[in-house]
Amino acid sequence: MKKSIQSLLALAVLAFAGAAFAADKAESKPGKCCVAAAKDGKACAHACCVAANKEGNNCTKCGGAGKLETKAAAKK
Ligand SMILES: [Zn+2]
Ligand SMILES: [Zn+2]
Repeated sequence: MKKSIQSLLALAVLAFAGAAFAADKAESKPGKCCVAAAKDGKACAHACCVAANKEGNNCTKCGGAGKLETKAAAKK
């Protein structure tokens, strides 16, 4: 019983550390769909991407990672 809880905890800690590490590295990489849309001068229309972009993040669901790269962070 105790063992299973410990391994579960270890897994959780590992996942958390991994996520924190990934976030720390913060490589900005938009999803493929967003890259394709950006090439056309558009914003990606995927609901998940729009939601992520609103938070200033790239959509992780579509293979993106890190913060949104804003060349002109003018409007706030
Ligand atoms: Zn997208
Ligand atoms: Zn998306």
